[in-house]
Amino acid sequence: MRRRIYKRDGWKCLCCGKNHDLSLDHCKPRDQGGSDQPSNLFTLCTTCNRFKANARNLSEWRHKLYEKFVAEGQPPEVASLRARDIYYKAKNALRRKLPKLDREVA
Ligand SMILES: [Zn+2]
Repeated sequence: MRRRIYKRDGWKCLCCGKNHDLSLDHCKPRDQGGSDQPSNLFTLCTTCNRFKANARNLSEWRHKLYEKFVAEGQPPEVASLRARDIYYKAKNALRRKLPKLDREVA
């Protein structure tokens, strides 16, 4: 299951694009009733996963990202666009169907 979700998401972090240190993030955290279904899981690197950690949903995450980008010195318009981009990337990934895994092990 894990590998199929990575594959669906292109084997990279949906937030920063890194292609190693990948982990699965629960869009809606498990302790808040989030499921282990692919529609609730997407690929983030461990750094981005840790950053998102206590965001309760994608909107809250988007807001956190925005604040982070602004704190990093980006103009608010740019920060807002970047946060929106990432938000939609994750949202679209969750809607996609899981691919079949190739037989060979990567
Ligand atoms: Zn990342």
